[in-house]
Amino acid sequence: ESDLPQPVQVPKDKLLGELLPTGFDENSCLSRYQSLLYRHGTPRKASPYLISKLRSYEALHKKCGPHTDLYNKTVKDLKSGRYSTTPDCKYIVWISFSGLGNRILTLASAFLYALLTDRVLLVDRGIDIPDLFANRFQKFLGYFPWISRSALQPYVYLHLVHDYDDQDKLFFCDQDQTYLQKIPWLVMKTDNYFIPSLFLIPSFEQELHSLFPDKETVFHFLGRYLFHPTNSVWGLISRYYEAYISKADVKVGIQIRVFDRENGPFKHVLDQILSCTMKEDILPKLNPHERIISPVGKQKTVAVLITSLSSGYFEELRNLYWEYPTATGEIIAVYQPSHEGYQQTEKQNHNRKAWAEMYLLSLTDKLVTSSWSTFGYVAQGLGGLKPWILYKPENRTAPDPPCRRAVSMEPCFHAPPFYDCKMRRGVDTGNLVPHVKHCEDMSWGLKLV
Ligand code: GDP
Repeated sequence: ESDLPQPVQVPKDKLLGELLPTGFDENSCLSRYQSLLYRHGTPRKASPYLISKLRSYEALHKKCGPHTDLYNKTVKDLKSGRYSTTPDCKYIVWISFSGLGNRILTLASAFLYALLTDRVLLVDRGIDIPDLFANRFQKFLGYFPWISRSALQPYVYLHLVHDYDDQDKLFFCDQDQTYLQKIPWLVMKTDNYFIPSLFLIPSFEQELHSLFPDKETVFHFLGRYLFHPTNSVWGLISRYYEAYISKADVKVGIQIRVFDRENGPFKHVLDQILSCTMKEDILPKLNPHERIISPVGKQKTVAVLITSLSSGYFEELRNLYWEYPTATGEIIAVYQPSHEGYQQTEKQNHNRKAWAEMYLLSLTDKLVTSSWSTFGYVAQGLGGLKPWILYKPENRTAPDPPCRRAVSMEPCFHAPPFYDCKMRRGVDTGNLVPHVKHCEDMSWGLKLV
């Protein structure tokens, strides 16, 4: 796996301002240190409190993680039904579920929950997790029949999937959290980035504020801490980046995700992309009257990285900038790494490409994303980018306006609860505190700003 060339320069701040722990074998995970070579701009700084919290988590994981005595003891207790309300070690087991973008967001959510509740995160590796991420995520145990919570018990199943009911949603109330505190094993199944609602739980409020004084960086830091592409995926990323993107003066990413029963490409989607990118000055306008614009000095080059399941949008855009010059003289090169046709989450190579493409998008200077897509959220969060979000088209027409700039780089929680735990009645949870707002792309969703 490590047949990649060694880095030509050693990045200065290779631990991302101490966000990452020391003591890793650099060759076993090249992305951990080489990704810095591709990221520009001043990196954001994680709070000292977050850094110290991560170090304590690592110590806890070392003490309680798989193959330790304490772990073996807790598992034995679990099997025999013994139960202590003050266990030495507590766990949260994350179940692999849904598309890759969703899984990255839910892993980050489960990890933050583990940090907040002093639990060790165990990961159901599914078919592809070890193939995609270089972390030594541990395999989880298959002991848990799915049961709902009732009396005190050694484990509780938390159903936080988009179809969850009012009972499940009590997870976001302090009463439930007090109860869960005593449970050694939590098993969580979710397809949602539920972090925004954790910020509305009073008992977590202070801690979250200290961890993330800048609220819009939650996924950014957790993502950069947790998700390091394996060497095989890093090969896909670095070869593509070096071949097509790195030399351009401006790097633009366009993530096209069309949630439609029928296969595109659709004209209204292309129209929307063109009108958004030109209106917002992301791409230069064309000059339809001239066939050649004489360059003055060195021409600026723009690399446009498109990701989409279909190749149609890419071909149209590339042809447009081939057939006509730009009004302002830039040279536009349009690229798309893959066009997989449809989602194939069960296939390893498909997921490798999906991960590589999310990562490549995160390396651009300006990013355009599609509404509702966690694939795009991952790219914007890792990249620290506020994307322009293409509104979701209705009735096969390009929306007007076609897009808007996101208020923050945070992902959207698509299925938040609307419940006031104290008053025991419905409430608009997007209206309670200034840093939790409704999303740009989904009016009922919640995001941190
Ligand atoms: P979401 O459905 O857009 O929220 O994103 P997910 O990542 O959870 O699920 C969509 C899945 O479809 C991805 O994980 C990929 O498997 C596939 N997919 C969607 N768009 C693309 C794309 O542009 N490139 C590639 N390679 N795969 C894609």
